[in-house]
Amino acid sequence: MSDDYIRVSGARERNLKKINVMIPKKKITVFTGVSGSGKSSLVFDTIAAESQRQLNETYSSFIRHRMPHYGNPDVDIIENLSVAFVINQKRLGGNSRSTVGTVTDIYSLLRLLFSRIGEPFVGYSDAFSFNNPAGMCNGCQGLGNIEAVDIKRLLDWNKSLNEGAVRFPTFEPGGWRLTRYIHSGFFDNDKKISDYSDKEMELLLYADGIKVKSPAPQWHKTSLYEGLIPRIERSFLKKEDGEKVKYNKEIEWYVIKQDCPHCHGTRLNENVLSCKVNGKNIAECADMQINELLHFIQSVHALVALPIVSELENRLKHMVSIGLDYLSLSRETSTLSGGESQRIKMVCQLGSSLTDLTYIFDEPSIGLHPHDISKINDLMKLLRNKGNTVLIVEHDPDMIKIADHIIDMGPGAGALGGEIVYQGDLRGLKTSATLTGKYLSHQSQLKLHKRIPKGWLSIYNAALHNLKNVSVDIPRGVLTVVTGVAGSGKSTLINEILPQFYPETIFIDQKGIQGSKRSNLATYTGIFDTIRKLFAKKNGVSAALFSFNSQGACPGCKGLGVVYTDLAFMDTIASECEVCHGNRYTNKVLTYQLRGKSIGDVLGMTVLEALDFFQEKEIVTVLKRLLDVGIPYITLGQPLSTLSGGELQRIKLASELENGGQIYVLDEPSTGLHMADIKQLTETMNRLVEQNATLIVIEHNLDIICQADWIIDMGPYAGQHGGKIMFSGLPEDLIHCNDSLTGKYLKDYIK
Ligand code: ADP
Ligand code: ADP
Ligand code: ZN
Ligand code: ZN
Repeated sequence: MSDDYIRVSGARERNLKKINVMIPKKKITVFTGVSGSGKSSLVFDTIAAESQRQLNETYSSFIRHRMPHYGNPDVDIIENLSVAFVINQKRLGGNSRSTVGTVTDIYSLLRLLFSRIGEPFVGYSDAFSFNNPAGMCNGCQGLGNIEAVDIKRLLDWNKSLNEGAVRFPTFEPGGWRLTRYIHSGFFDNDKKISDYSDKEMELLLYADGIKVKSPAPQWHKTSLYEGLIPRIERSFLKKEDGEKVKYNKEIEWYVIKQDCPHCHGTRLNENVLSCKVNGKNIAECADMQINELLHFIQSVHALVALPIVSELENRLKHMVSIGLDYLSLSRETSTLSGGESQRIKMVCQLGSSLTDLTYIFDEPSIGLHPHDISKINDLMKLLRNKGNTVLIVEHDPDMIKIADHIIDMGPGAGALGGEIVYQGDLRGLKTSATLTGKYLSHQSQLKLHKRIPKGWLSIYNAALHNLKNVSVDIPRGVLTVVTGVAGSGKSTLINEILPQFYPETIFIDQKGIQGSKRSNLATYTGIFDTIRKLFAKKNGVSAALFSFNSQGACPGCKGLGVVYTDLAFMDTIASECEVCHGNRYTNKVLTYQLRGKSIGDVLGMTVLEALDFFQEKEIVTVLKRLLDVGIPYITLGQPLSTLSGGELQRIKLASELENGGQIYVLDEPSTGLHMADIKQLTETMNRLVEQNATLIVIEHNLDIICQADWIIDMGPYAGQHGGKIMFSGLPEDLIHCNDSLTGKYLKDYIK
């Protein structure tokens, strides 16, 4: 009986109130609750951390001493835990040799297939690898692209050589490399580049190895003349040291990446490319969309390759069912979004035949349209049916539906949360009095009074990535929501094309803030200056004393309260500063008080607590805005580097609330938000629009879609089967648009 549960007793990590909980094994358990209620503290910082710690214990003490020391999670005991895998949205990143095909191992299967039945036979499967000398293109060493000098940037066409037409260090007038060109006798050194004949251009740029009169006849009578391009490539691009390092910044500006002219971006040499299966070479297969590749593989009927074909089919079907059918194996992982990265990691796990593992997912619905969610739900069930325990932290109602068991945390955020307010099935949750239950049984409606557009932003003939010559008008002065399945082209249109037409567009994204370890909520929002002045005035000392850069800050951590250890092979770890024990300042500074609190105490307050403490208008205004965007539980001193992408985005949103009249883009602001938080977020967005902003939001969340004044729906499907505008207009008209998947889901949602 007890074997059927993971038992957690006395969990006290962060805001958890010494909770006991039993989580059914080999089932899907979804953790819900407002942001800051303690879901991550329980699932990641307690359960996953304990699994990791127990696993580390199994290593020899020699290895253990060389591994980062994970603090024991603050919990009495966890019983019956199996090995836990955390599948989060941390991007796969990686270098340019890492592709969807290589990380999922599907490309290795493809290599195996080609080595067995490819015509003509080229070699063993290694020969088909672009990371292996036998297979790689020699022109680019398997990278698929080469660095080339951008001539438009290199030359100033309105100048002559003497006037400095060559804009590259050491080639400028007086620069030692220019002498060779000036003395070559080939050019009129006062002639503008734009007046050069084709022949002169060719000589200037590309000529190689022509004997000319030496510019330094005292040493040699003749010397070799070489065009600018081979000259620059030889000294700046091909070498890895010396001048390449010295002029790195400049080179970055003059050099562009181009498809390799030898292999045309395929990364492979001619020998490998000549080998075909059913008329296609391996590079053509890697460039196909996954769904097309699946069709192709299904058409291969060679008996000797049967096991490989069926395994390939299996893996490709996983990719399709997880909603990644629009990707190709050749896509570099560094260009994938967080949600796509998470789904790729999931596919890697599905290929494994291990059972009795615990899989922990962090909001897998991110980036997914309701249509895609139904597919990912099937995969979750597949993992469970293989005998694994699945834990999901999630807010999306459609994902909550597949739970065998729900654990709802709350009732509030931070100190007001940390308890389990409900556990059981969905029916019970809906009739419970919890915030989640209330919202799940709540009936949504479209916004009644829509704002009238105050003009239009026009995009013409956009054709980047999968866009099919898209022209569209986006209304000014209202809230526009851009919808469509994952991969349909929303980000391409809004994040890449729109700023080409309107460079003034401001993106409020989820990316980290530069130097964010050293900045926190108080410094980023600017209230820290005011707070320091208040302390200074009250205690008759200088405000500088309270600065992180002053003598007053703890010398051990420079006022951060924590110290960071960088590990080359793992994430940076933070641990409490041993000098000040997290108090950030010297003991002397901590004796200065404001209304009974030290500066360290103030930095330890949550937004909500600080609102209670301060009456000063300039501080209160900022704190209220932070409250409005749904982060009452974050402390003023919490480093920005510890916040989630969604939290960062909301902080950036809060600091834009003063500036009306701009064009703002938000990409999936619902990330990490409970339905109750979303209500607050939409109110904030509406306020921004009231202040005359044009707000464009890429979203799947149906509650946010309901708030739209205008909807642009992309589709119909992903990748090459998407890239069109399916609908542009009022939400109530979208419901009647038969071609739109979004319309269909919206109709079901509000009925
Ligand atoms: P949820 O996952 O439900 O959004 P969390 O478990 O992340 O909630 O947060 C619970 C509480 O712990 C909140 O008060 C939050 O501010 C706090 N907390 C989370 N991460 C940190 C951190 N790195 N440092 C300090 N406090 C944190
Ligand atoms: P959405 O935002 O709707 O999820 P995207 O605009 O990200 O869709 O993607 C649209 C299409 O463009 C997809 O087929 C995707 O694979 C492709 N794509 C997106 N970014 C890149 C890139 N950097 N390189 C190549 N293809 C890309
Ligand atoms: Zn090449
Ligand atoms: Zn310290």
